[in-house]
Amino acid sequence: MKRVHTSRFRVATRGTSREINRSIVLNLVRERQPISRADLARVMDVRRGAVSLIVNDLLSEGLIFEGATGETVRGRKPTFLYIDSRRRAVVAADIRASETFVMLADLLGKPMAGPSSFPTVRDPKELVALLAERIKRLLADHPEVDACEGVGVVVPGMVEHSTMRVLHAPTLGWRNVNLRELLAAATGFPVQIENSGRACALAQAWASRDDLGGTSGDLVFVSVSDGVGVGVMIHGEVLRGRHNIAGEFGHLPLSLDGPRCSCGSNGCWEAYVSNPATLARYFGRQVEQAGPTRVEQRHFTVEDLIARARAHDAKASAALETTARYLGLGLASVINVLDPARVYVGGEITLAWDLIEPAVRAAIAERALTPAAAETDIRPVASTEYPRLRGAAALVAAPAFAAPVVA
Ligand SMILES: [Zn+2]
Repeated sequence: MKRVHTSRFRVATRGTSREINRSIVLNLVRERQPISRADLARVMDVRRGAVSLIVNDLLSEGLIFEGATGETVRGRKPTFLYIDSRRRAVVAADIRASETFVMLADLLGKPMAGPSSFPTVRDPKELVALLAERIKRLLADHPEVDACEGVGVVVPGMVEHSTMRVLHAPTLGWRNVNLRELLAAATGFPVQIENSGRACALAQAWASRDDLGGTSGDLVFVSVSDGVGVGVMIHGEVLRGRHNIAGEFGHLPLSLDGPRCSCGSNGCWEAYVSNPATLARYFGRQVEQAGPTRVEQRHFTVEDLIARARAHDAKASAALETTARYLGLGLASVINVLDPARVYVGGEITLAWDLIEPAVRAAIAERALTPAAAETDIRPVASTEYPRLRGAAALVAAPAFAAPVVA
């Protein structure tokens, strides 16, 4: 059995609130299912009777289920508890400046069907109409789903946590968009909205709660796509700041007179490492260059660029190498400012991780303030794991199962 970190799973006591005990039990069932009542009591270090009271409540609410009888050497056979993640689902949506992705996930955040996408339209009302249509179709295609628990949406911008209003999404040109209200009205489901980087960090922390070992568990998620979204978890909490902009490393300037950024400034990290920046570098044009692009460039993606680099296209390799260097320089700032236990990097660029890692590491080593900091654990997250959509799913799925973090 895995060791339980008592710093993260508070031991239930008479003084522990009912809500906390419920989420501790739910989270343990999620992580260790199928699990017996006796094992729950052992892990939580409480009497079996106390566990049974909570379990009975959760059973009657349909949040957990009793399954097949287990085998024991002696005595009575325990029944196992599990979470029925099949019949209840969540819808995950990832709005990017270029495309919007939609996926159905189970209550544990696992994809039930591969994502589909459509081109993002900038008008929020039009976009909501298209998205609602997709969501209805997705649920109609999955009649085995009894209930949709809600829609989680990640956006490339700053979100006011209390109202879930999108305060500013530079790549979409949005300010103060009440996406939640529009989408809830159009779908009839509860809607949760979060910044893409923060949602990725949340989902990553949720999925890997156990494997950060004895460290503080501070983690950063850097999501590279049409822009750069960064989510920061400190002491198990998503860092938001006073004005909901904490962690916006994407707009940290690397140079005062660098390329134009979506936010209107020049030389932001995002303007050097986003997918459009990498493609612009390859095609020898300015990233902000508007107007028609040549046909060969219009449908050319970072995946295509990586394929060319693997086929020994020197220009493609050079473009990736430069992006890798800037990625590393920005990561060094993230490390120097936050000193996290681990930094996750998501996005299509991770498909080329074996090609770019040396340049990323060299740039980090150049700027990190101590040799130990230069060795910070950097983990690419494969784009085939859909980290942004998992982040969106976690917005709906995680709160019900989140273990309370007690310092
Ligand atoms: Zn910027």
